[in-house]
Amino acid sequence: MAELTPMMKQYLEIKKDNPDSILFFRLGDFYEMFADDAKLASKELDLTLTSRDKDPKKAPEEKVPMCGIPYHASEAYIARLIAKGYKVAICEQMEDPATAKGLVKRDIIRVVTPGTVIDAACLDDKSSNFLCGIYMDSRSAGVAFCDITTGKAHLTAFSGKDRVEHVINELGRFSPAEAILNDGAYAESALVDALREKFSCRVEKVGERRFLLNEAEKNIRAQFGEEAQKRLPAGNPAAAMALGGLLNYLYETQKTDLSHINDLDYYEQGRFMELDLTARRNLELTETLRGKEKKGSLLWVLDKTKTPMGARCLRSWLERPLLSVTAICKRNSAVSALVDNTIVREELIAAMTGLGDMERLIGRIVYGTAGGRDMASLRAAIEKLPAVREQLSALNDRRLSELTAELDTLDDIGGRIAATICDEPPFSVREGGFIRDGFNEEVDRLRHILKGGKGIIAEMEAKEKEATGIRTLKIGYNKVFGYYIEVSNSFKDQVPETYIRKQTLVNGERYITQELKDLEHQILTASERVVALEYELFTALREEVSAAAPRIQKTAAAVAEADALASFAAVAVRNGYCRPDVDESGVIEIKEGRHPVVERVLKDSLFVPNDTFMGEKEGRVAIITGPNMAGKSTYMRQVALIVLMAQMGSFVPAKYAHIGVVDRIFTRIGASDDLSAGQSTFMVEMTEVSDILHHATKNSLLILDEIGRGTSTFDGMSIARAVLEYCADKKLLGAKTLFATHYHELTELENTLPGTVNYSIAVKARGEDIIFLRKIVPGGADRSYGIEVAKLAGLPDKVVQRAKAVLAELEAENGVQYVAARKEEDQVSLDAIGEGEVLDALRRCQPDTLTPIEAMSLLYELKQKLK
Ligand code: ATP
Repeated sequence: MAELTPMMKQYLEIKKDNPDSILFFRLGDFYEMFADDAKLASKELDLTLTSRDKDPKKAPEEKVPMCGIPYHASEAYIARLIAKGYKVAICEQMEDPATAKGLVKRDIIRVVTPGTVIDAACLDDKSSNFLCGIYMDSRSAGVAFCDITTGKAHLTAFSGKDRVEHVINELGRFSPAEAILNDGAYAESALVDALREKFSCRVEKVGERRFLLNEAEKNIRAQFGEEAQKRLPAGNPAAAMALGGLLNYLYETQKTDLSHINDLDYYEQGRFMELDLTARRNLELTETLRGKEKKGSLLWVLDKTKTPMGARCLRSWLERPLLSVTAICKRNSAVSALVDNTIVREELIAAMTGLGDMERLIGRIVYGTAGGRDMASLRAAIEKLPAVREQLSALNDRRLSELTAELDTLDDIGGRIAATICDEPPFSVREGGFIRDGFNEEVDRLRHILKGGKGIIAEMEAKEKEATGIRTLKIGYNKVFGYYIEVSNSFKDQVPETYIRKQTLVNGERYITQELKDLEHQILTASERVVALEYELFTALREEVSAAAPRIQKTAAAVAEADALASFAAVAVRNGYCRPDVDESGVIEIKEGRHPVVERVLKDSLFVPNDTFMGEKEGRVAIITGPNMAGKSTYMRQVALIVLMAQMGSFVPAKYAHIGVVDRIFTRIGASDDLSAGQSTFMVEMTEVSDILHHATKNSLLILDEIGRGTSTFDGMSIARAVLEYCADKKLLGAKTLFATHYHELTELENTLPGTVNYSIAVKARGEDIIFLRKIVPGGADRSYGIEVAKLAGLPDKVVQRAKAVLAELEAENGVQYVAARKEEDQVSLDAIGEGEVLDALRRCQPDTLTPIEAMSLLYELKQKLK
């Protein structure tokens, strides 16, 4: 230490307090990194590693490696490090190096972490960025989420043996970018693994002292108010402790005004439908199973919002479907009002188009990172508010009226910004040029000096000529003396006493006056002063707007909700959805239901709608058989998605839907192995089934697709049967279940298990080929047509023929008949389906929107269905 320069000593002191962050150490116009930080950053950011120590006598290993980035380009570099899961501590010069005596004072002004980034470069507009705090002990668990870009916090708590699973399911709703855990939570490996692997979340264990209850309650009161703190459950302090830990971490890393974080939503279990990670993934709510892309997900179909905050609101509805019938109906009535009134809907959508992200703008303004452009964007957003309000108020609906009341048109703020900031401000607030002309006399005067420096000098020259009567007097400028008055020798006698001689020339003399010196000072310092003054005015404006943050946030929330509701309405109209009847009847009845995503992606054919009936007694469990590729999975997911959409408050893709709310939806679909977690396909399948049977209730909806596939036929069939019996038995579970299987033997259960009904998906056999009719019909299928589908997939003919021979042998041995050549009379009902389907397709098609080629191919397709 003794040998180090004072600056390196200062660096090491600061680094000691921030061991787990990459330290950006400000040196002039650069942020420098040293030692291990430099090695890491140079690798991650492709920077050249150098050494500060130029002493040739020192061995290379004694020299401290370093690398640096220009401070004005830091945002992009920080964004890259954050995206890779690192924390960056920013150390600034706390005094002006030009005037500082000795070593410049430096300090950490902020630690940027994945869960606390606020710069737009690091964020996705359409999703929230959550920091999560988890507190867990032997009995209870609390989990808190906070998005510092919008100031919203969410909190819930659990107790009992399933608390870890519940916490993981909550994580699924919020997908946090960063989590801080107490010792108890960190000891739960399932939780830590899920965070790291499923959410690519940065996990940090922090000391228990950050979660102390007293401190937590004090911070919650200070941040969210007395009322919010009182709403927290007295019986389960884990909630307060989780949030307390989160706040403590925020205060320590952010070191700035966080007063915009003022909206705390504490929710109890039972307010939202709980969905586990498997169900979220299988139902492809926000991304597709395979490509992990938004396109092809339910969100892709439903999100037609016009503002980023609307997109985030809609996404949060999708992540948290409701359970309360009243709340659902309130939302879907608002959608209905917008569906029914085309003009208002379209005007509302037009008014919100380009309105921008008020929520994040106000976040940045309070936080202190906003610039002139952010202010101008806020003003532009505010200017659109009266039109939004006008359209909302035009409809007679409870929720829309509430939103109208919550939407403040913020005229005062808009007016204040418009008066202060010019129309197209530059990016930085440190270089001036953003205050509107006419707003501040001094700014105008300084700008006049800056622009008109020459004019002012000419004016003075004329004035002096007139006062002295010296015709040849002129004012000039040089670098050594600055401005001077030059008088030729012939007029020397007329020079007033106030002139101070500065230089003698061959033909004349040069003078200065006090007035000229003052003017020179003004001209030379005007640019610096105008920049400082503009910044001061900006800070005052920022403080004023920050003081109105709660009003702005409330308005932003109202616009976000209006946007999400309008999106639901627009999608409902465009895709021909209906308003579902939602109640607690326990019945799911859907007429002509469609899969919201598959119907949008089918290119060459029309989607075939299907009906569903699942009652409390009748049809509680549906056993669905049918050939491969017939559409079983699509059908089952379609039912789950329609229920989910109804509970989000959206309209649904059907002609009619009556949805008794379900508490949870569980899915067991398809084969996937989790080799990284050391689980085989069959093990994953069984773990998922076990999870479902342990957590489902009689009010849940179960989608079970091919249970017992990855083992021997008899093992598999036995498991499938036992699971089915368990689900159907009201004394054991009695949940509404859609059960697809290739074990046709299970269809016998229809006769013995109460509430169980067989369905199959119709196909039409033509010789050795099959045509998929996609229609669900009562009754079990006779066989799977696996070999025909394999043939369609292009399996070599030899293999197909051999498979048929083997199948025939097997069936003969087991006394089953191979029914390749089905009799024509078997097909009667299927023909009827074909006709029904053609009629359906004709009813749904819109000739006005078809191109001649599409019309032609539709005609061919319909004709084929009738063959
Ligand atoms: P497997 O038993 O092999 O898993 P499956 O019966 O579950 O097959 P799906 O995956 O549901 O079959 O459907 C296969 C394809 O059929 C889908 O990708 C979709 O393109 C099409 N399809 C399914 N249902 C319909 C429908 N109702 N209307 C039109 N096309 C459909």
